[in-house]
Amino acid sequence: MKKYGLLAGALCLPVLFACSESSQTASAAKDVDQKSELEATKASSEIAATDEAKIASGVDYHSFANPDEIRVTHLSLNLAANFETKQLVGDVTLDIERIQPDSNTLVLDTRALTIQNVTVNGQPVDFSMGEKDEDLGTPLSITLPEGADKVTVAYTTSPSASGVQWLTPAQTAGKQHPFLFTQAQAVHARSFIPLQDSPQVRVTYDATINTPKDLLAVMSAANDPTTERDGEYEFTMPQPIPSYLIALAIGDLQFKAMGERTGVYAEPALLDSAAKEFEDTEAMLEVTEQTYGPYQWDRYDLLILPPSFPFGGMENPRLSFITPTVIAGDKSLVSLIAHELAHSWSGNTVTNATWRDLWLNEGFTTYLTYRIMEMIYGHDRFKKEAVLGYQDLENDVAALDENDEILAIDLRGRNPDDVFSNIPYEKGALFLREIEHKIGRENFDAFLMQYFKDFAFKSITTDTFIAYLNKTLLAQYPDKLDAERINTWIFQSGIPEGAPHPESDAFVKIDATRDAWLSGETKAVDIDTTQWTVHEWLYFLNNMPASLSTEQLAELDAAFSLTTTKNNEIAHSWLMIAVENTYEPAYERLYSYLVTIGRNKLVKPLYRELSKTPEGKAFAKRAFEEAKPGYHPLTVRANEGFVN
Ligand SMILES: [Zn+2]
Repeated sequence: MKKYGLLAGALCLPVLFACSESSQTASAAKDVDQKSELEATKASSEIAATDEAKIASGVDYHSFANPDEIRVTHLSLNLAANFETKQLVGDVTLDIERIQPDSNTLVLDTRALTIQNVTVNGQPVDFSMGEKDEDLGTPLSITLPEGADKVTVAYTTSPSASGVQWLTPAQTAGKQHPFLFTQAQAVHARSFIPLQDSPQVRVTYDATINTPKDLLAVMSAANDPTTERDGEYEFTMPQPIPSYLIALAIGDLQFKAMGERTGVYAEPALLDSAAKEFEDTEAMLEVTEQTYGPYQWDRYDLLILPPSFPFGGMENPRLSFITPTVIAGDKSLVSLIAHELAHSWSGNTVTNATWRDLWLNEGFTTYLTYRIMEMIYGHDRFKKEAVLGYQDLENDVAALDENDEILAIDLRGRNPDDVFSNIPYEKGALFLREIEHKIGRENFDAFLMQYFKDFAFKSITTDTFIAYLNKTLLAQYPDKLDAERINTWIFQSGIPEGAPHPESDAFVKIDATRDAWLSGETKAVDIDTTQWTVHEWLYFLNNMPASLSTEQLAELDAAFSLTTTKNNEIAHSWLMIAVENTYEPAYERLYSYLVTIGRNKLVKPLYRELSKTPEGKAFAKRAFEEAKPGYHPLTVRANEGFVN
């Protein structure tokens, strides 16, 4: 934002609604030197208009690459994983297409890579590294000989590559073998492959990966569950995907089938419990196909990662990466699987063109997640999950800057990882639910099925989506939908007035139970929780008043053993209350929770809350320092500000 002072205010697209900023500036200029002020205003709004047109047309501010001149279409990776030095070593051959026939400079994104050489047909060619940017890395410019259509870059990754995490045996479930996994979203693919690291450049790929002989490599590609474990593994990805979906993991992995097209890879210690927990995956795949069109990616498998994985899941195509923190034993947290599966339609098949457009990916996926959960587990569970999601959104709207509450967020000059909040997810989903309510579910489902078909294997901008809406739903239902309301959802902060407000009868009862306990009418031990699922627990705890006495907390803890709960989400809600009220009996669990779990959604709110008092901050710092070697770089970056 700072880099682009001209547009410091809310992003305002003249195509879509009147831009009032420049006219206000003009009237304020009257008393000064009117003429020159007006000229300056005109010049600056012209630059602003050009900038806005660039954003609307999908210019990616988070990549140095030049796909409009020369575009990479395929990658051949040849890498060896060295667990001693924590490096990937090898080369990549890029197939290129000249969009501008006379272009001869290929620009790639890199981050902390050591480039050994660049060759075309075995002959070295000139290359140079540009200026390093803290968030975006370093551009690599390669001068291509005339007619060259393949270029090979030999390179080594840094042991601290932002997209690669190397775990020691002690950090795994089995404690015997090391583990590696990559996490490329948003702009971390460039830390392990020199490439055009923009979601609007789609590539197919093949790969040969060498590992220690007793380990198995898997990728976001066709995986063969019966492959011989010999330390050399081959992969092909025939569908063109954006770079942030290229993924690799290496570990002591085994496979178990869950259905005809679905299975799970995990360390042996987790394999059976994961396969049981996620056994409904095949059914989820089937209902999603029936509602939104065919699954385009052949198999759908899950990879269970060690607990340091920074996210709940990552929708790497054909092989979603999943945190083990959702294996609760009762399928209560499997909406995460529905979410990652839904990405096979929104995100992986229809992709956001830039990180500003992430809501097209996450908002649609969150909407689909609710629908899949409803189809598999029924309407009551859907209503409960919708209320909890809405409360998460309300919390973010209360905490975030106004500009960060906009679906089409302005991310210029910022780290694209800043886009991740409940806004693209829950606000995006709520927007789609409003359209569904207005035109009817059947009609909206038909629209989505056609949308996924029309934009299959394309990367699109918010503006492309709006133009598509104009041509389709706005033309079909002029009495039910209007452009102004749609602009409010996409370009204004907060939750629009009159938005759908999810409610759940089951939660009305929980409110009454909580009130009765708070007023002293009911004792905690007398509350009947036998029918409660994780949803009731989260709603019960998340809506407690900000301040509770130590006696009250001790009463809850004695009645429900909250400090020792095995459910990581319930533990999170309880530990938040413990920190807010400095309930010390829970601090030992809090410490081990922070040290063993690296999922950012679960640890970040705890660090933020702890950092509010000097004692809390000192405690947080101790836990953070111990946890840091096992945390993913993204979790480190997201939380180090709270402890320093
Ligand atoms: Zn997602």
